[in-house]
Amino acid sequence: MTGPRPWAAYETCRLCPRECGVNRLAGQRGRCGETAQLRVASIVAHFGEEPPISGRRGSGTIFFTGCSSRCFFCQNWQISLEHEGSALTMDRWETLVRRLLVDHGVHNLNFVTPDHFWPHIAELCRRLREAGVQVPFLFNSSGYQLPSMIPVYGEWMDIFMPDFKFADRDLAEACMGDRRYPELALQSLQKMVEAKGFLEPWDPSGATPARQGVLVRHLVLPGEVENSRQVLRLLRQEFGRFLPLSVMSQFRPTPYCWQRGRLTRGVTASEYMEVIELVQELGFENVLIQSAPSDDFLPDFQCVERPFKGNPPAVLEGEDDHRAE
Ligand code: SF4
Repeated sequence: MTGPRPWAAYETCRLCPRECGVNRLAGQRGRCGETAQLRVASIVAHFGEEPPISGRRGSGTIFFTGCSSRCFFCQNWQISLEHEGSALTMDRWETLVRRLLVDHGVHNLNFVTPDHFWPHIAELCRRLREAGVQVPFLFNSSGYQLPSMIPVYGEWMDIFMPDFKFADRDLAEACMGDRRYPELALQSLQKMVEAKGFLEPWDPSGATPARQGVLVRHLVLPGEVENSRQVLRLLRQEFGRFLPLSVMSQFRPTPYCWQRGRLTRGVTASEYMEVIELVQELGFENVLIQSAPSDDFLPDFQCVERPFKGNPPAVLEGEDDHRAE
């Protein structure tokens, strides 16, 4: 994807499991809702990731507009479902990312829901590595990937941080319209672990940020503890007790939850405790637990200058002057 035609993959787009086959270069849109025009919602030093990722100086996080998974409960719904964001040229994007690296000294570059803009990401990674940038590159995803793409991502990415959202096919179907999610997520995760191993160094304090490997996230959903149980059992069986795992309690209902009349409350303390008890029963050793999620990291992407109260102002601050052709 970094050869003479770096954008060729957009021509008959099959970058993700939706395999729409549309010509995004000609302005067509598939399920992710984005053409081949790079669109980015925020570029920010982010302190709301897990400690091994945020460290002390933050994770250099790039939030892309659109998403191939389209879970209706997405906590980033303003960008994944409503497509908030700015169009950027490749050069302008590179400038902003370099500013993040230099001004903030972030520990890594963190590409959030990156599948549908992979050709742009590969091009940025190529430019940065050629210029001597050494921070780890991190693939931060929904877990809904084409397993065949993982080795391609692994050519540039050092860290994989996928969600494992659903082991229950019916729940996957109801939330994001693809009952194949469990097997696709599992096969992709197997390839990620094969390529990069488990996250290292493993330092839950964040004093020594991670440089390589896989950290799996699971967001507990209200009323869906059984799905969480199935996810944990599957992960334990497939990857053993040392798999690095982040179990999140931060779910908040979004406008689309109210619209569907589903997942219309937060996760209760007892639901989360039930899940954590199973984590302990299964003997997982490397676990990050989110006992008190902070509203400081509940995003509002309409506030372009500062979408997260807990972060410094974003590097991307309204980019109308730099819209791509
Ligand atoms: S990246 Fe978008 S257009 Fe391409 S296959 Fe996936 S959903 Fe379809």
